[in-house]
Amino acid sequence: MIEKFDIAVVGCGIAGISVAARLSKRAKIGLFEQEDFIAHHSSSRSAAVFISDYGNSNVCELNLITFNDLQSKYPNILKQRGLISLEKSSDIEEFDKHARSLGLSLISVNEAKEKAPIIDLKSTRQAAWREDVFDIDTDLLIQTLRKECLSNGVQIFTNSAINKIERTKDKWILNSKIQSEILINASGAWADSLAQLANLKPKNIQPFKRSMARVEIDTSNSLSSLPLLVGSDDSWYAKPDAGSMIVSPADVNPCKPHDAWADYEDIALGIYNFESMVEPKVKKITSNWAGLRSFAPDKSLVIGPDPDEPNFFWLAGQGGYGFQTCLAASQIAEDILLNRSPQTSNELIEKFLPDRLM
Ligand SMILES: Cc1cc2nc3c(=O)[nH]c(=O)nc-3n(C[C@H](O)[C@H](O)[C@H](O)COP(=O)(O)OP(=O)(O)OC[C@H]3O[C@@H](n4cnc5c(N)ncnc54)[C@H](O)[C@@H]3O)c2cc1C
Repeated sequence: MIEKFDIAVVGCGIAGISVAARLSKRAKIGLFEQEDFIAHHSSSRSAAVFISDYGNSNVCELNLITFNDLQSKYPNILKQRGLISLEKSSDIEEFDKHARSLGLSLISVNEAKEKAPIIDLKSTRQAAWREDVFDIDTDLLIQTLRKECLSNGVQIFTNSAINKIERTKDKWILNSKIQSEILINASGAWADSLAQLANLKPKNIQPFKRSMARVEIDTSNSLSSLPLLVGSDDSWYAKPDAGSMIVSPADVNPCKPHDAWADYEDIALGIYNFESMVEPKVKKITSNWAGLRSFAPDKSLVIGPDPDEPNFFWLAGQGGYGFQTCLAASQIAEDILLNRSPQTSNELIEKFLPDRLM
């Protein structure tokens, strides 16, 4: 029997679940996830941080809209953490440039030490700080959006890889048994592969692997109130998480879409760089993982109808900011799909349309 939907969303990470929730009162939606549970890939492996100046200027606009939307609709999701960037060298000009790019204010290393007592003053030459950096409770956000979907009748199918896509005159037929007017491609690292399955041109969305380790560190200092610590040379970042620290080597390794895992060399390098800027040593790595950050060539998200087939809708290229842009991205998707005057603006929408990548 053919199951019929207005919209089939392929991929249930933060992109898929947020657009399904957004449209759930307006359409009959089927949400299809290849894995046994939702948010198995990038969306369960992030650092869960919100930095409003992270990403290019287009992305920053999405960050701000998402921030305001989160504050008003889901006030429990963001918790203030703060950020300190640490610099080994005395090169003032370079550090100032870096600090400005993230909206940080320069502070003395002693002030930095007050805010983050684990910092090693022997290696830290310069520091910069920003208060309005937040933890995102990504699990709570996904579960909240999932509940919203279910209460508005969205059907979520796990263990349901879409591996065949056919086009009739005006419908998509998925896996020979699902019919839908519109297909939303929210398949993360697999976005280009899904387009090719539908006989459409890829948009050169490239996955990059990023790794993370959960570590115990040798300190009597309380960890929970530490800010996010970042190496200004982009060689590591770390933050407290559930009683321990998570440390990333900030690796950017291009790869094919896959169920990513961390390489020990990358983890070791990240921990080495972290240890070189803090007093305590890492006692133990308790777990490690990696996820894929998938970028379009210009590093802006790809949101909108495919230029060759308007009923194939891209919601991809979330890169390293899929959570902090999610509500703005789903808002743009809703505005375009409902063909209404935008809640955002036409100028903003145009920045993300897939036809820029022809
Ligand atoms: C280490 C790391 C740190 C990060 N830190 C942050 C951060 O601090 N802040 C932030 O905002 N972002 C961060 N990100 C980025 C963020 O995690 C991603 O941008 C976001 O999770 C992407 O969401 P997505 O839904 O597009 O992809 P995914 O979560 O990967 O979801 C795509 C889903 O599609 C499914 N799928 C693919 N093909 C098919 C198919 N044919 N049929 C059915 N299902 C299919 C996949 O199984 C997958 O579950 C980080 C990422 C990593 C890896």
